[in-house]
Amino acid sequence: MDKEEFKKWGHQLVDWMADYMENVDQYPVKAQTKPKDISNQLPFHAPAAGEAFETIWKDFERIILPGITHWQSSNFYAYFPANNSFPSVLGEMLMSAIGAQCMIWETSPAAAELEERVLDWLKPEMGIPNSWSGVIQDTASTATLAAILSAREKYTHHQFNKAGFYSQKLRVYCSTETHSSIEKGVKIAGIGKENLVKIAVDENLAMKAELLEAAIQQDIQNGYLPICVVSAVGTTGTVAIDPVESISGICKKYNCWHHIDAAYAGTALLLPEYHYWIKGIEDADSFVFNPHKWMFVNFDCTAYYVKDKEALISTFEILPEYLKTKTRGQVNDYRDWGIPLGRRFRALKLWFVIRSFGLDGIRSKLRHHIELAKQMEQNIVAHPDFELLLPRTINMLVFRYAPKAITEVNLNQLNEAIINQINASGKAYFTHTKVNGQYALRMPIGQTNVNETHIQATWQQLQETAKALLKSQNR
Ligand code: PLP
Repeated sequence: MDKEEFKKWGHQLVDWMADYMENVDQYPVKAQTKPKDISNQLPFHAPAAGEAFETIWKDFERIILPGITHWQSSNFYAYFPANNSFPSVLGEMLMSAIGAQCMIWETSPAAAELEERVLDWLKPEMGIPNSWSGVIQDTASTATLAAILSAREKYTHHQFNKAGFYSQKLRVYCSTETHSSIEKGVKIAGIGKENLVKIAVDENLAMKAELLEAAIQQDIQNGYLPICVVSAVGTTGTVAIDPVESISGICKKYNCWHHIDAAYAGTALLLPEYHYWIKGIEDADSFVFNPHKWMFVNFDCTAYYVKDKEALISTFEILPEYLKTKTRGQVNDYRDWGIPLGRRFRALKLWFVIRSFGLDGIRSKLRHHIELAKQMEQNIVAHPDFELLLPRTINMLVFRYAPKAITEVNLNQLNEAIINQINASGKAYFTHTKVNGQYALRMPIGQTNVNETHIQATWQQLQETAKALLKSQNR
């Protein structure tokens, strides 16, 4: 492809992207394909000769697009959003054209300095202590692994990194509701999943801090070394908020790293009314949230903040000859702040989004989403056959269809059938969770352009689907 062709296709693709983003609601939200539908259309061998971009593009539209789940659809309520926006996509395009590999300051000083500044901007807005340091990671899973590894090194005096396995068994704690990335992190860190202690939760599915303290005390008596507690500010299933202040106090008392996982709900901290969630953060050690979930920055972009950057850097530092530079010590060489050596210039799209929306623009979108969730909550509460299973947190609803005189087992099946039918219709996409064994629909309302019309149409579809399924079951 030469420059002229690149320009021709570049313009055409930008036009296509703009139309796609505007009309994305017209696609079936969840890909309606069966396993192998796509791969059966792909040749077994790579082409020896180059092909015209026209042919490649036609295949994209014909083969690939039908196998895409449209995460940017306003009717996407599954998992958590991974929303995006025009300025973010422009940032991603520019980043790929520049193609900088930002492993150290010298390989692109602007990337390192922009990353530092943009993450610093967010600290006072979100209630993160000013003295903490931020770094962009690819995902929250990686950031949490970095926190667990930093805790491991801090409390084993770097013996784990130096000599391999440690004489004493280490312990990590989280609630029974925290994300699976904690267990993955504990496994990768060589701590062993048997040494991840899952603490029971209260009626709102938040960690019971008193049980955490009891577990730590018992472990110390039994010769374990507690090194890290991961609290959740917004669990994946239901956006439950763990008691950060109590957990920070316990971690301080027992000399443990406190990592706060706010992957999804962290964005809400841009609204000052939610700062109370992280009261006590100054006694914690690290905090992660994903601008790539609910802050209009396309995947991937994770903001990780750490109180003691030396604890992080000393865990990951490596210094082969070819990476030695004269500026070392004066600048941030982010290769030492996480797992990979190579790094994308992710700060660019974050910068574009924050400047283009402005903090006010971001905040008004967040408030709009929370308002929509309140409307949906009222719909559910007012309906005799639907029930909220937990109080709403920000823009997340957890509910089910529960007509009277249906057994619990049948209710679980009925609600599963509702989700399956709605997802198969292509009109909306839901995933589920379980609340005390009860099958529940989750509905996070955080798509960039979601509005009242989408919510009312989805609510209508939910009622009609539920009623029709109940009728067919009673037949
Ligand atoms: N933590 C929580 C609370 C999450 O909800 C998720 C994903 O939804 C993660 C961590 C993992 O996020 P990532 O995909 O960025 O690793």
